Amino acid sequence: MLTETSKGIVFEPARCTQCGGCLAACKTGSLKALPTAHGLFHISWHEENCNRCLACIRTCPAHRLPLAGFDPAKLDGALGFSLAFARDRQVRSHASSGGAGRLLVKTALGSGLANLAYTLKNAAAYPWAEGCFWQRGDDIASMPNSMYLPILVMKNLRLQERQNSLLVVGTPCQLMAAEVLAGKKADRLFKVAIYCKQQKDFRATEYYAKRLKIPKGGEAPGSIHEVAYRGEGWPGRVLVNQRSLAWEQAAGVPFGKRLWRVPGCRFCPDAFGLNVDLTLLDPWGIRQKNPLGETLVVAWTSEGLELLEASGGELQIEGISPEDGKSAINLGDMCRKATLVNYYLGRPVALRARLAGIGEQFQGRMYETLLGRFSLPSIIHKLIAHAPDLRDVFLPKLHSCTRRRQ
Ligand SMILES: Cc1cc2nc3c(=O)[nH]c(=O)nc-3n(C[C@H](O)[C@H](O)[C@H](O)COP(=O)(O)OP(=O)(O)OC[C@H]3O[C@@H](n4cnc5c(N)ncnc54)[C@H](O)[C@@H]3O)c2cc1C
Ligand code: SF4
Ligand code: SF4
Ligand code: SF4
Repeated sequence: MLTETSKGIVFEPARCTQCGGCLAACKTGSLKALPTAHGLFHISWHEENCNRCLACIRTCPAHRLPLAGFDPAKLDGALGFSLAFARDRQVRSHASSGGAGRLLVKTALGSGLANLAYTLKNAAAYPWAEGCFWQRGDDIASMPNSMYLPILVMKNLRLQERQNSLLVVGTPCQLMAAEVLAGKKADRLFKVAIYCKQQKDFRATEYYAKRLKIPKGGEAPGSIHEVAYRGEGWPGRVLVNQRSLAWEQAAGVPFGKRLWRVPGCRFCPDAFGLNVDLTLLDPWGIRQKNPLGETLVVAWTSEGLELLEASGGELQIEGISPEDGKSAINLGDMCRKATLVNYYLGRPVALRARLAGIGEQFQGRMYETLLGRFSLPSIIHKLIAHAPDLRDVFLPKLHSCTRRRQ
């Protein structure tokens, strides 16, 4: 997070979500991203050219994220739930879920609904993807599926000219930054949120590599030269240097136990995104492992419905009931995360929330140390993945989350 102090612009790494928005906001080149431990970036401020315009601070989502809160009743305001998948089997199989993310970009540009789009493109060098503008006719085969490492995705979102309509696909914190960056330069802004409860630092990728017996080598990316976190069916496989592991085996520990999180993710209560048009997620709980995949799509606005309508030729879309849609989403997990935001902010919280926060931190550090130091057999990974969550001891599975909007 960036704040203005008497000493100038100060970077607080513990609150940074690694969205990259501040780098795009700064027109004087006064901010630089320096790689630090575990693949995370430190934003350094150079006062010489800084004109104190504070655009970087206005763009930084870390100030606004905790205010978002999470209210399960938000789902009652959704305009529709659907399962969507690419009609093209190859596209569908390469995607994270069903390929809605990539096809919404392609069809919004193809139909003229958006005249420009912004999301990730594959890159040859680490971190193997970067935020780019997309235009009509660009090949979506060069769009990665879910990337679970810090990328500073929004750092290239600099609009040179005014646009009629811009579509941005990204995680909720990135979309908050995008909204400020696009500002008055885009007459119409379509926002597609990638549902996101946590981003990982590079240690999660090292964990996959270790499980695949790839020798460790120095600082990130070390001996790792190729990754794909999803794809090859649903929920798919993690690939590192040509070796692959089923997603369920790979992700149970880092995602299930919330290890190696990007620091700022602890302060982010709303995985859906505030004021977005569509949210895309995995249909956990309503779909079994299968050779292809589907994306669960939540439409929040009429613009979201327009995007879906424009994609009809390439995306097969089947409406589902709100009950089925909600049952695919682990609302209890979102509520617990939202409850702990105030604990991590150091604000006074109820005793239960305090104990749950202490428990989560203790459990996380213990697993990170254990898994970082030792090479453990698969059975231990399985046991850790299924071990009780200390948060559950202190916070009921589904308790009410308070609605707090900015
Ligand atoms: C960090 C992260 C955490 C997630 N956590 C969950 C979760 O807990 N539960 C759940 O159900 N779903 C989660 N998802 C969403 C899920 O992985 C799929 O992205 C989603 O279902 C869309 O799949 P798709 O096949 O439609 O997308 P695809 O067609 O595969 O397109 C993926 C789109 O996501 C964009 N993208 C990929 N990685 C990133 C990134 N790091 N930052 C910004 N944009 C990115 C790509 O540019 C592309 O536009 C997460 C995704 C990410 C990136
Ligand atoms: S205050 Fe303005 S010029 Fe200075 S670092 Fe921030 S965006 Fe750049
Ligand atoms: S959260 Fe984003 S905008 Fe804020 S400091 Fe980190 S990278 Fe910059
Ligand atoms: S959990 Fe929140 S802060 Fe972290 S990457 Fe996802 S949207 Fe951003």
